[in-house]
Amino acid sequence: MSGNDSATPDAARDATSDATLDATDREGRNPLLSVRDLRVRFRTEEGVVRAVDGVSFDVYPGETVCLVGESGSGKTVTGEAITRLVKSPPGEIEGEVVFDGQNLSDLSEKQLRKIRGGRIGHIFQNPQNALNPVYTVGWQVAEAVRLHTDASRKEARERAIDLLDQVGIPEAAARYGDYPHEFSGGQKQRVVVAQALAANPDLLIADEPTTALDVTIQAQILRLLADLREEFGMAVLLVTHDLSVVAEVADRVVVVYAGKVMESGDVYNIFEDPAHPYTRALLDCLPGRGGETRGIPGRLPDPTNPPDGCRFHPRCPHALPECREGAQPPLYEVADDHEVSCVYYDGSHDPTAITGEASSRPSFPDGGGGGGVSDRANVRPDDSREDEDDE
Ligand code: SF4
Repeated sequence: MSGNDSATPDAARDATSDATLDATDREGRNPLLSVRDLRVRFRTEEGVVRAVDGVSFDVYPGETVCLVGESGSGKTVTGEAITRLVKSPPGEIEGEVVFDGQNLSDLSEKQLRKIRGGRIGHIFQNPQNALNPVYTVGWQVAEAVRLHTDASRKEARERAIDLLDQVGIPEAAARYGDYPHEFSGGQKQRVVVAQALAANPDLLIADEPTTALDVTIQAQILRLLADLREEFGMAVLLVTHDLSVVAEVADRVVVVYAGKVMESGDVYNIFEDPAHPYTRALLDCLPGRGGETRGIPGRLPDPTNPPDGCRFHPRCPHALPECREGAQPPLYEVADDHEVSCVYYDGSHDPTAITGEASSRPSFPDGGGGGGVSDRANVRPDDSREDEDDE
């Protein structure tokens, strides 16, 4: 289906507010994480950068949600703003972040520190920066354990060795006393994962955890995250620009552009019935999708001076006159668990102008089946990653 049947104005909600959103999922569960109208601004000499401008989404227990968009779209800042990791000043955060029923916006910095690295683990982009070169990796993992649990030094050491073993560091006990420079890039990323898991988090926020790793190591890390998610029952919020990664691991996808949510939905909806021109353009960049590999023409707008109307309009091949004025279109519900911020879904336009006929729609990378890393793995990431030897 093209997804437009239910696209009536009544089904729309403001892309920047969420009062009408029923936050329970199909099984009636409450979200573990609920982000509502999140805004992050940076005051700079060039002006106010609106990095995140009214982003809302949920993460349910045990699921993997991918925040997707080009570099500079605001997805990394969104992930950091959840636990207020954005430095203030110059950053200013507004909006509501509710984690397991607790509004994180109400917490003091000291209370938040307990949650960060405790119930919410973070994996940052670059393991080189995440690990301190002057301390052994074992000590650094053990410190993460001690910081968030009552473990004694001995217990923390044992737990650190366990974690290093669980993330696939061979001979973990023997490598406990090694320094970061003695590990390969892939192994360092595994150590960073072990650190993030030190307190058995309920939610893991992973920002481009496989960037700069070669294809083989990337697949290993993604499989590791999927296995650990299964074993620990944690939810994962994965921040990535790489749709091939999304295809492998996501349950649900939130597509972000210029600080706004353009489309969100179940991973199969996003890959089989992509409704937003930006999502479709991103998918066309995947090898094997859209017939060729190419970038999206044009560039992200100036974040200090975003365009009126739909933020994607300067790059959108389907833009109408009304796309260039007013505010970002609201999010129209086009199917169960599938929302799109585009005027073509307001009930008075024909969305097939964007989506085409059913027969022309792309198919999910694994042919529509699957559900895990192994059976989605025929989408290959771009091969521009640096090669490196690993375990
Ligand atoms: S609202 Fe207009 S400019 Fe924006 S994606 Fe839809 S058609 Fe394109």
